[in-house]
Amino acid sequence: MPRATSTSGSSSGREPVALFYNELFLKHEAPFSHPESPERLRAILSLLRESGAHDEVDWAPFKAASEEDIEAVHHERLVRQVLEASMGGGRYLDPDTYTNTYSYDAAMLAAGALKAAVDAVLGGEYRRAFALVRPPGHHATPDRAMGFCLFNNVAVGVRHAQRTHGVQRAFIVDWDVHHGNGTQDIFYEDPDVFFFSVHQYGAFFYPGTGAMTETGAGPGKGTTANVPLPAGMTDAVYQEVWNRILIPLIRRWQPEIIFISAGYDAHWRDPLAGMRLSVSGFGWLATQLLRAADELGVPVVATLEGGYDLEALALSVLATVRAMQGAPLPEDALGIPDGGPPSRDVLDLLDHIRAIHQI
Ligand SMILES: [Zn+2]
Repeated sequence: MPRATSTSGSSSGREPVALFYNELFLKHEAPFSHPESPERLRAILSLLRESGAHDEVDWAPFKAASEEDIEAVHHERLVRQVLEASMGGGRYLDPDTYTNTYSYDAAMLAAGALKAAVDAVLGGEYRRAFALVRPPGHHATPDRAMGFCLFNNVAVGVRHAQRTHGVQRAFIVDWDVHHGNGTQDIFYEDPDVFFFSVHQYGAFFYPGTGAMTETGAGPGKGTTANVPLPAGMTDAVYQEVWNRILIPLIRRWQPEIIFISAGYDAHWRDPLAGMRLSVSGFGWLATQLLRAADELGVPVVATLEGGYDLEALALSVLATVRAMQGAPLPEDALGIPDGGPPSRDVLDLLDHIRAIHQI
């Protein structure tokens, strides 16, 4: 695939990174004030421009996914439901999940961005790609739109990698603060896709799934790993999760491609959750994950999921893009909560999860 635009990416000694974005994503708008709003992408694009990153990355072209692409991970009736809701001018598909006239097209294009991102990295042109899309996808189950998500973008990307590029082992890292229940459901019995999710977990926290005992089923037994955490966890805890669980799982799995469901709602300023990660923390998580991918010589495709404090979201996406470029991380203008070292209880929990997965 040719580069979309000629940029200074490679000439500056930085890793070329492909980004995927389209203004149609802004047209999927809620009728009333809703946290999953077009302002999220506007804030990200605006900071990317301000920081100079916008002109250092490659903005790659892409097309909408086809119904067949969507139906490789969803039931046909979900596709029909979203299409009919949009054609009817839009309605709520559940108490959180709205549609308008443009939602079907935006959702098809978001899924298409993941296909194109997979093509970009498996075609050898790039090693790293980031789809800046909405609506997000990781809550969308085989037959249900939920949690602001219509179609499961990352799952469409994984299936495309399998079917078009012959990928046999894929790994998905979901660091959104909410459990990626939809992605888990889609791949729960799939022995070829490892799904890892770290998330806030506890009474009344959405969506309520993602216990550590959920590890896959049938031929997919052992290919799902959940790290459910109490609220309040800081950078130091997430670093332990990476060092003790995620990185060892990736090394053992030996994937051919790594996907990131990159939500930024574990940031301490996020209004929907109670974690205390910082912008620097997200930069560290991205950097270490990329390092693990480089060790294995495999590409990384990230896709935007949640993140509802606009400033924290934009800065954390920028930190991820900078990490992908191999560039210095931006200054953490919002500050880093001081939490001290992880508690004994949390370390015990991580040990327990290690034991479940025989790490
Ligand atoms: Zn989320």
